[in-house]
Amino acid sequence: MVYFIGAGPGDPELITVKGKRRIEEADIIIYAGSLVNPQVFAGARPEARIYNSASMTLSQVVSIMEQGEKEGKSTARIHTGDPSLYGAVREQMAELERLGIGYEVIPGVSSFLAAAASMKREYTLPGVSQTVILTRMEGRTPVPEKERIEKLAGHGASMVIFLSVGRIEELCTRLQKGGYRPDTPAAVVYKASWTEEKIVRGTLADVAEKVIKAGIEKTALVAVGEFLGDSFELSRLYDEGFSHGYRQAMPDGGAELI
Ligand code: SAH
Repeated sequence: MVYFIGAGPGDPELITVKGKRRIEEADIIIYAGSLVNPQVFAGARPEARIYNSASMTLSQVVSIMEQGEKEGKSTARIHTGDPSLYGAVREQMAELERLGIGYEVIPGVSSFLAAAASMKREYTLPGVSQTVILTRMEGRTPVPEKERIEKLAGHGASMVIFLSVGRIEELCTRLQKGGYRPDTPAAVVYKASWTEEKIVRGTLADVAEKVIKAGIEKTALVAVGEFLGDSFELSRLYDEGFSHGYRQAMPDGGAELI
């Protein structure tokens, strides 16, 4: 059996209870070396075989899993954040299906969620944006034409851009071309939840310069949108005059609430 496990964004306490347990039980551990904090497998069995996938190809990773399966062993395949985002996990699943090897996916805390927590912000603010766009700029790997940064920027939604901080100037220019005003708040979160975490705050007009000055070139997210600002409406969910399935409206404004 193979378990694809989201290791979380870096802080070793930000892994699920289930993911941690599967790692502790595993005979074989394969982790994405560039971003997974090795502390997440500190509790591995002493006899567990541990591989860093950073220098491996897909077929090498799959052959370790296949060998493990033949020996009746369990494999924990550890991905950073959540495997469903830029995890190159689907191609591994396809191979396992072809080989008839069973697998399960255990989700993790994605870095974009850790970034919101570190910034103390909510992506979906009433009256501001109810949509989060997760994307990346094309680089050595392409992005479909219909998802060009300029096109996505046209929505003015909350946006989180992965894998693109190395070209922050170009990114900020293109976001503005797409429709965000130059004074739109923007922030870069480097290594969210790690001890070396850094947050750089600014606007689309000045955040690039600040990020370059801070020397941030990778392992960072770029967040853009008015959700980073301070104006928003109060939610209906906790509005005294608004009923929903779990609570009746309080005509007196809730003053009599015991
Ligand atoms: N599956 C991962 C993303 C993998 S792609 C997830 O769910 O988070 C790798 C990119 O994710 C990095 O280039 C960076 O843009 C972002 N990233 C991963 N961990 C991060 C962290 N702790 N802080 C900020 N960005 C991070």
